[in-house]
Amino acid sequence: MFNEYSSKRQRMVETQLLTRGIKDPRVIAAMRKVPRHLFLDEALWPEAYEDHPVPIGEKQTISQPYIVAVMTEALKLSGTEKILEIGTGSGYQAAILAELAEQVYSIERLPSIAKRARKILDELKYANIVITIGDGTLGWKEHSPYDGIIVTAASPYPPKALLDQLKVGGRLIIPIGDEFTQDLTLYLRESNEDYNKESYGGCRFVKLIGEQGWRE
Ligand code: SAH
Repeated sequence: MFNEYSSKRQRMVETQLLTRGIKDPRVIAAMRKVPRHLFLDEALWPEAYEDHPVPIGEKQTISQPYIVAVMTEALKLSGTEKILEIGTGSGYQAAILAELAEQVYSIERLPSIAKRARKILDELKYANIVITIGDGTLGWKEHSPYDGIIVTAASPYPPKALLDQLKVGGRLIIPIGDEFTQDLTLYLRESNEDYNKESYGGCRFVKLIGEQGWRE
């Protein structure tokens, strides 16, 4: 369907992602496809494709498109993966993951936010996303181990449960730092005990609040 938002979305991909070095063709295709504006309140649709985060209620935000692309690309998805997301938020990142992996599990701590995300994801017919309400810093053991884990809230350190629930060869991408600024950090599980750590640049997320994150 071609409309005003579809052309804004194509422009977003070209000016914010391609020019800044996003290369994975599957990530680019997913971001050209998923109707990001529908994950926001209608009053905010005009801002949906701008180069910054947008409020989604309860003092939370949908991430900037470029950050969604960087984090998704870092997971190196081929289509067969089982992914865990911490911080469902609007559901937009989950939809991008659902386009690129086989199955997405997503945990959100705020019930009202989770409910809205579920509604739009159902309307868009994403059948490979399961959302639960809870403390994502503890992971979701039942479906572990995961090929990839993505944390879309800022943490002072990587939660141990998430490192544990990663497959050998699996990737955890998470913003690590203080309340105001973080480094997007990738932990690649090289063996049962060894993780290789790599930085993907600066960012600013809302706090990950839980047993293995920030206390409120
Ligand atoms: N991925 C989202 C953006 C998330 S904003 C999107 O695409 O829109 C961060 C979200 O993390 C918020 O909704 C917040 O409530 C949630 N959150 C914070 N701490 C959490 C925790 N311990 N477990 C699960 N969700 C958490």
